[in-house]
Amino acid sequence: MVSEQTRKFVRQRAKYLCEYCHSPEYLSPDRFTIDHIMPQSLGGSDELDNFRIFNLLVNMIKSHAEAQKRRGLL
Ligand SMILES: [Zn+2]
Repeated sequence: MVSEQTRKFVRQRAKYLCEYCHSPEYLSPDRFTIDHIMPQSLGGSDELDNFRIFNLLVNMIKSHAEAQKRRGLL
């Protein structure tokens, strides 16, 4: 898991902007996701420079859930 200290550092480093689309975190309904750039399963490290923040995953999960919901209604 990502420590609160790491989370804080990475969010400050990114100036609270999504590192993909640069939308500000304060406009997002959710806190941004923090994740490894290089997955640990592929040998990624736990160094601070291997982390990024973004809202993409949250959006993906949401649209996925919504798509499933729609399919269930059909
Ligand atoms: Zn984004």
